[in-house]
Amino acid sequence: MGEFDLIARFFTRPVRRAALGVGDDCALLAPAPGMQLAVSSDMLVEGRHFFAGVDPAALGHKALAVNLSDLAACGARPLAFTLALALPRVDEPWLEAFARGLLALADEHGCELVGGDTTQGPLNICITIFGEVPAGQALLRSGAQAGHDIYVSGTPGEARLALDALRGQLHLPAATLARLRPRLERPTPRVALGLALRGLATSAIDVSDGLLGDLGHVLKASGVGADIDAFATTDLLASSACHESATGQIDQNTLLQCALAGGDDYELAFSAAPAQRGAVQAAAAASGTPVTRIGRITQEPGLRLLDRAGQALQGRFASFDHFA
Ligand code: ADP
Ligand code: MG
Repeated sequence: MGEFDLIARFFTRPVRRAALGVGDDCALLAPAPGMQLAVSSDMLVEGRHFFAGVDPAALGHKALAVNLSDLAACGARPLAFTLALALPRVDEPWLEAFARGLLALADEHGCELVGGDTTQGPLNICITIFGEVPAGQALLRSGAQAGHDIYVSGTPGEARLALDALRGQLHLPAATLARLRPRLERPTPRVALGLALRGLATSAIDVSDGLLGDLGHVLKASGVGADIDAFATTDLLASSACHESATGQIDQNTLLQCALAGGDDYELAFSAAPAQRGAVQAAAAASGTPVTRIGRITQEPGLRLLDRAGQALQGRFASFDHFA
């Protein structure tokens, strides 16, 4: 099968909302009047972002999920994406499963595949995604203000627990690993929550490299600091990790590391004014996404981690950095 047959068979579908999809030199998108395009790219490299031999359907899902997560963080509605793919060889069952996982998530979000590039090489998947947001309403990293609450969605650290268990660095009961593994391999992009937070959140980011590190980007962009209740997220993770078995106890330090610096969460961290607590919970409920208040933005720069007594907690929770 040649390059063009491959594209036609696995990655060409009838266009719906786009003005022009796969097959010409460019795709054409027609954003609605008054909307801004939100654009983001994410690359997944074998051995770096996923294990060689991972389930191709899960990989297709994740490749798009990490991009949808960026749109979610901006409060943008998904429109379309392009797929640049390097493949070592044409493996039809692999491509069929990859496209199935990818396009199922795309359909769930009404996000069309409108183009891309296909080449031979070490397995590498790069998606560029396009969304739309009313002009001036995108959620940004730069809007956090002193006194605002800080929230995170879901249960940060679940993906990292699964990763450590798969690497044999941690024991999880089989039922717990079976429940947490999809958090790593098939993350749920929080698109509905991002949309519900428009006009409500004052800043937002998606947590991909670790909660504290990613929050640090918001603090820097906003010129503020934060007090974070370390155990707000750790308690969530502890109850998740021990759900199937009381004997599956994991030590506190591991829980802290996974919740605060685990990475691969694809949750949203955001700030909102304290007067909006009810509205934030209503947005969470309406989007079917739990959110937890984990701290407060401060005038004083820097991020302070607090224990249950409100005392400073020592520890290093470096987030992921490809070149560190
Ligand atoms: P060009 O030579 O102009 O770069 P290509 O020959 O690479 O175009 O691609 C032909 C068409 O197929 C283009 O419309 C391109 O967007 C689309 N395409 C290529 N690879 C993919 C892919 N992996 N997924 C979806 N569309 C693709
Ligand atoms: Mg090309």
